[in-house]
Amino acid sequence: ALGYNQAVKENRNLYNMLQELRGNIRVFCRIRPLINLESISSIEHIGNDGSIMVFDPLKSQTTRKIFQFSKIFGPTTTQDEVYKETQSLIRSVMDGYNVCIFAYGQTGSGKTHTMCGPSGGLSSQDLGISYMALNDLFNISTSREDVKYDIHVQMVEIYNEQVRDLLSEGTSITKLDIRTSSSNGLLNLPDAKICPVQSPSDVINLMLLGETNRASSPTAMNHRSSRSHSILIVHVNGKDMSGNATQSSLHLVDLAGSERVDRSEATGDRLKEAQHINKSLSCLGDVITALAQKNSHIPYRNSKLTQLLQSSLGGNAKTLMFAHISPEADSYLETLSTLKFAQRASSVELGTAHANKESNEIRELKEQVDSLKRTLATKE
Ligand code: ADP
Ligand code: MG
Repeated sequence: ALGYNQAVKENRNLYNMLQELRGNIRVFCRIRPLINLESISSIEHIGNDGSIMVFDPLKSQTTRKIFQFSKIFGPTTTQDEVYKETQSLIRSVMDGYNVCIFAYGQTGSGKTHTMCGPSGGLSSQDLGISYMALNDLFNISTSREDVKYDIHVQMVEIYNEQVRDLLSEGTSITKLDIRTSSSNGLLNLPDAKICPVQSPSDVINLMLLGETNRASSPTAMNHRSSRSHSILIVHVNGKDMSGNATQSSLHLVDLAGSERVDRSEATGDRLKEAQHINKSLSCLGDVITALAQKNSHIPYRNSKLTQLLQSSLGGNAKTLMFAHISPEADSYLETLSTLKFAQRASSVELGTAHANKESNEIRELKEQVDSLKRTLATKE
């Protein structure tokens, strides 16, 4: 029994040694430019310290409101500039950190532009974070001779509290369960198709397939993508010469539009969709608040979205939220609601993120612990 306790203690010490980096849920706010016929902006001022001042330009008497974030990207910010600020976070996936980036905001505020690029981004030069991230990960993986990486992707959407696989063949609608499979690594969606990728073009092909499948799903009927959450999951497994392994994931999430649907107008399917979206985004808010208040119970299980993102929102992960706002006057109330949601998120202090590394030493100790446990069990 002494050996067992000793082994457990040493095991824990090693884990503690691996713990690095303290951080919050980081929140970046991005304001898209005025487009088409929009002409009146509700943005009064953007500070280079991450502050933003908004007001309601359609009211004669209006109060200015100020919010503060880690970073603010104004209407002229380019995709490259946004990616540069995100890059180090994304690269840390290669060192074994779990990373989650999600885009929040009302429909039309620029979520898909940031994550994918203009109108999906597949044919354009102005690629979004998802493509740049995978490019970057491949570059790192080929440049490092000391570590061998395997990269796999999954792509799903959550629509009306059902998880659908966007990469499986055919039109059959698969409703997936979220559960942790230890046999399969640490997959939360072991039944969703998982595709090995070796180059950026592999990824682009899969994303095209995903987009095609998404377009033929029930979400296509109204506003296509704005009523469902789309999630790209990148799994990275690394192994170095001496057998040390890392296992981590990057979740890239384009959330459903956060706008409130007018209850008096919505009926039938539209109402049902709206209720599901409200529920999952408010669950996301509840989880964030519970984390901020350091509650002992975090209500992850109240929605599919938070269940799936559990490992990306808790202590052992780096999380970045892009809060998107439309500057036009008519969107002022939605803008305010997005800024408030984002402000709440930015006060979450995550514990200590640590890399999912398993050194040979830890593995040996774990095996020792297991065998000691077995010995103890047979003696009882
Ligand atoms: P969402 O995904 O939030 O519904 P989109 O990304 O589809 O919004 O953006 C809505 C419109 O605004 C699109 O026509 C898009 O090309 C444009 N847009 C969004 N963000 C930007 C930006 N930063 N620069 C230029 N155009 C943008
Ligand atoms: Mg979109």
